[in-house]
Amino acid sequence: MEYPGGHTGAVKVLVTGGSGLVGKAIQHVVKEDGQGREEEEWIFLSSKDANLMNMEETRAVFQKHKPTHVIHLAAMVGGLFKNMRVNLDFWRNNVFINDNVLQAAHEVGAVKVVSCLSTCIFPDKTTYPIDETMIHNGPPHQSNFGYSYAKRMIDVHNRACFQQYGHCYTAVIPTNVFGPHDNFSVEDGHVLPGLIHKTYLAQKEGKPLVVWGSGTPRRQFIYSLDLARLFLWVLREYNEVDPIILSVGEEEEVSIKEAAEAVVKSLDFQGEVLYDTSKSDGQFKKTASNIKLLRYLPNLTFTPFTQALKDTCDWFVANYDTARK
Ligand code: NAP
Ligand code: GDP
Repeated sequence: MEYPGGHTGAVKVLVTGGSGLVGKAIQHVVKEDGQGREEEEWIFLSSKDANLMNMEETRAVFQKHKPTHVIHLAAMVGGLFKNMRVNLDFWRNNVFINDNVLQAAHEVGAVKVVSCLSTCIFPDKTTYPIDETMIHNGPPHQSNFGYSYAKRMIDVHNRACFQQYGHCYTAVIPTNVFGPHDNFSVEDGHVLPGLIHKTYLAQKEGKPLVVWGSGTPRRQFIYSLDLARLFLWVLREYNEVDPIILSVGEEEEVSIKEAAEAVVKSLDFQGEVLYDTSKSDGQFKKTASNIKLLRYLPNLTFTPFTQALKDTCDWFVANYDTARK
């Protein structure tokens, strides 16, 4: 089988951030869904294997495994409220991690790296839908500018790396991701895992569910297992250095209020639902186009939102004691 860059023969895929939401989903798809291929060896790293903020540790773990391919997921990740608190940490941690990983991949001769951007890094003032050409068109939303600029620099690194060395180091741009193994921390996590955890507690304690903000902002959500399947396709078949948005369609975008109502339904919550408008709404929307993706994969389908959400809620309840929260 020929992989992008003309690579044939054994493929050793190193996944940084292999213990997180997206990393666990890729593990599931490769191992339990049987979508790994015979010629592929998969290695999933966590921060216990190496602190990727440190170049020597990064170099050592790359020298140890000598991957031919890398899926680079490791990052400091958090929801709106954590981003607002520590923009400097998001900027520094992610800039160091990304530079170390991309440089270490080059040093061991990896032929392909797929890194991970996010639709929240796009300019705040923009036309919709957002597409792949618009990443650097203006400042990101002020709530997460540290994370956003650090992520944007991956695209700069990839283009320069292609110009100087001809490497196919590329990036994907997912919308808000959710699924099993997410970070369900109320204070630090993203909206869906936060709402799932808050609804679970409200149910248990007989209290109202408090949704933060007005509920009017809009988001596109992608299920981690759908995203994981797309990662395999990008790794094996996508040949561009330019990034690609991995998203459900624009028509699948929902308001935070609709998302909260869907969580309430999934967990069969019977209590009152309140909106705390003293809390930030963050970016109003970041509606992304998946036209480029559909040009490559015209028959692509996604797990319906309500089904994916129900599966995630069921997973959280079943794994409450050990879930990240
Ligand atoms: P996550 O669940 O928080 O996982 C983060 C992963 O990065 C974990 O495996 C963590 O290892 C690892 N990591 C963090 N700091 C590290 C360090 N200093 N050294 C080594 N490893 C480190 O995040 P995720 O949601 O799966 O995100 C994966 C990627 O998708 C990230 O690049 C993120 O920016 C991107 N993304 C996420 C979303 C979303 O909604 N979640 C949306 C768009 C893009 P430990 O488990 O050992 O801590
Ligand atoms: P974003 O998509 O990058 O802005 O990050 P989030 O996934 O944290 O989503 C933030 C949006 O969800 C904002 O409009 C928040 O006001 C709203 N929201 C409502 N309740 C919660 C909650 O419990 N946690 C979080 N993180 N956001 C919430």
